Amino acid sequence: HYPVYGRIDGPIVLIGFGSIGRGTLPLIERHFDFDRARLTVIEPAQGQAEAIAARGYAHEGTALTPENYREVLGRLLEPGKGFCVNLSVDTSSLDIMKFCREIGVPYIDTVVEPWAGYYFGTEDNAARTNYALRQAVRDEKAANPGGTTAVSCCGANPGMVSWFVKEALLTLARDTGRDATTPADRAGWAALMRDLGVKGVHIAERDTQVRLEPRPLGAFVNTWSVEGFIAEGFQPAELGWGTFEPWFPENGHRHETGCRAGIWLEQPGANTRVNTWCPTPGPQFGFLVTHNEAISIADYYTVGAPDAPDFRPTCHYAYHPCDDAVLSLHEMFGSNAIQETHHILEVDEITSGIDELGVLLYGHEKNALWFGSRLSNEETRELAPDQNATALQVSSAVLAGMVWALENPGAGIVETDEMDHARCLEVQQPYLGPVEAHYTDWTPLTDRQSQFPEQVIEDEPWAFRNVLVG
Ligand code: NAD
Repeated sequence: HYPVYGRIDGPIVLIGFGSIGRGTLPLIERHFDFDRARLTVIEPAQGQAEAIAARGYAHEGTALTPENYREVLGRLLEPGKGFCVNLSVDTSSLDIMKFCREIGVPYIDTVVEPWAGYYFGTEDNAARTNYALRQAVRDEKAANPGGTTAVSCCGANPGMVSWFVKEALLTLARDTGRDATTPADRAGWAALMRDLGVKGVHIAERDTQVRLEPRPLGAFVNTWSVEGFIAEGFQPAELGWGTFEPWFPENGHRHETGCRAGIWLEQPGANTRVNTWCPTPGPQFGFLVTHNEAISIADYYTVGAPDAPDFRPTCHYAYHPCDDAVLSLHEMFGSNAIQETHHILEVDEITSGIDELGVLLYGHEKNALWFGSRLSNEETRELAPDQNATALQVSSAVLAGMVWALENPGAGIVETDEMDHARCLEVQQPYLGPVEAHYTDWTPLTDRQSQFPEQVIEDEPWAFRNVLVG
């Protein structure tokens, strides 16, 4: 009774069998017609070999490297057919995407990942930003337009949240009595956001998933890749920089080349707090962890010249991970040591909680609108096997991206902002639990602690100065 969205002829290669790879495989099985004998999982962690064999798939245990990826993938893939689904850490999304396009194999990933060693071995902070990683993919798109479809950054965020921004804009247009016709192109979407008076967007997330066992000292516990979270957490805090901002951070840096949509701060994102809002907690702290969508959304909704725009929204992640991850970060930054024990909470050990992930569009005539998925771990168990709520929001976006890629085989390199959001959400929504719109009259100046002097900008409540803590 699950819809089959199409046939994938030829070999499918799944790179990475971590929390997202394990969650995506059952959705591929459920929603595509393909030859099971021709699906290979590339996973170097030997602990996974048995699980892959138990599912009846071929296992390639070689870790991909800059030296071997062409040989390994060339051996497993077949030109002009199949699919390459990259859900690994420590592999270059750009190199793998380029190779797949060279041989005409559709490709998808959930992050612009660099090869192992890049995040901690690069001295220049500007080069360690997601701006730089993303720009390299955008430059490749510009240099080689069109061709085989490669979907870049199609997880929950980056990914699904870009579809939510569009749905939230249409909701806001309807609720303010404006024309809510779906714009035909990028310029139309950007004009809609500007005309609605939206100043910026938080990717506002609250993860309340918990288990009974307390977090042991010296362990990093999270609801998705610990390695991925630590790597991005140590990247500089980064955000799309809006035209309405009346203040510029002292330790902020712009970029000299590329789309110019973002800035970065001279401090690690996972140790940078911001004020934000989600439906369950109301006002809360989030971490300003760098993410691709902070730049891609600010870029997509720019009106005017990149270096002197008439309109651009501020956009950034405001992430309250699960409580165990908050404690893990606290311990990690406090001890100046990365924990050696890593643990991703499994669906069956989580006793309660939801991943509430949405977009908070702020600054308009209705103040702020949160639009997103409020998926519980409990509901996740009913919907799909082998994953918690966090992973299902990601894996179902991968599914939607794969469907879109099959339906649009010659679209070239695309980001989720550039895809048909309605079609993608149609595929994804059955896996998202309640998808809701919530208005709030909260601003970063609401109920502000006033016993100590603070540097705030009174006449622009949404100024990043007021959002940033400290
Ligand atoms: P994970 O850490 O659970 O799994 C990653 C897997 O990659 C591991 O099993 C590891 O052995 C494998 N791997 C490591 N080096 C490799 C190599 N050289 N070649 C092949 N495989 C290798 O991570 P996860 O939670 O499954 O996340 C997977 C990816 O998805 C990460 O890059 C993460 O950042 C990304 N992600 C994106 C989103 C989103 O919403 N966009 C959300 C969660 C995760």
